[in-house]
Amino acid sequence: RHAAVRTAFERAQRDALLEHQLPSVQITGLSKRYGPQSVLDGFDLTVRTGEVVVVLGPSGSGKSTLLRCINHLEQWDAGEIRVGGRRLGFRVDGRPMTQHDIANERASVGVGMVFQHFNLFSHLSACENIAGPLRWVFGVPADEAERRARALLDRVGLGHRADALPRHLSGGQQQRVAIARALAPNPRVLLLDEPTSALDPERVGEVLDVIRRLALEDGLTMMISTHQLRFAEQVADHVVFMSGGAIVEQGHAHEVLRHPRHALTRRFLSMMG
Ligand code: ADP
Ligand code: MG
Repeated sequence: RHAAVRTAFERAQRDALLEHQLPSVQITGLSKRYGPQSVLDGFDLTVRTGEVVVVLGPSGSGKSTLLRCINHLEQWDAGEIRVGGRRLGFRVDGRPMTQHDIANERASVGVGMVFQHFNLFSHLSACENIAGPLRWVFGVPADEAERRARALLDRVGLGHRADALPRHLSGGQQQRVAIARALAPNPRVLLLDEPTSALDPERVGEVLDVIRRLALEDGLTMMISTHQLRFAEQVADHVVFMSGGAIVEQGHAHEVLRHPRHALTRRFLSMMG
């Protein structure tokens, strides 16, 4: 049922495909501290259009902080983040950004995010969780918003649960609604922060199946933090391994996963695999 791990030929095909794609996310010299603690220190990464980046690392290594910076849910201390060529957190007049500026930026720059704990609106149906933000944030007319919401629910296999409240859905179903919601404004890049970590083991597969299809069939640009190594091998083009707030190693997915250079990466992979 599951896609097999990529062959050498498939990897070469992916490389050739991605080589000529424009950068979608460009991070240079990104640094972030919480008080005295450095969480990101001079982080560099380019994600090309259509590329899938998997972020690995033990708890507390900075994975969520990285993804939250790219969605501008956190402020950073130094460095630059560009999404679709546009520099985040930067006003032409050089003044600091207000919360209002950040909200406008988030709506226009095209970053979608999926959280470990789904973060659905508990009082709204699956359909309204998707259609509501399309109306409020993006000004989509009500009938079109509902049509798009139902089509997205079909796409994640939940067309028949469109009118259910989150508490009447399983964790796996709630996360699939959250993925549909994140896709609704057609983001140029989708960030998924440990999307299966809060799920019962028997619910993990259905969520990974949806993400796998988005990556391999729809060609979506994604950054995913996960502990699912076999899934990482199936979908990742590029792997970043973080530990203790630093980037220990990053590179071609197959190289990092199969031939890790750093002892910390080796230990982590043998522990998780
Ligand atoms: P991960 O997602 O890899 O588990 P995080 O990015 O959540 O790691 O956290 C990285 C480090 O930053 C941890 O040491 C964590 O305790 C710290 N941290 C995260 N968020 C905050 C915060 N809001 N205030 C202070 N420290 C934080
Ligand atoms: Mg985290």
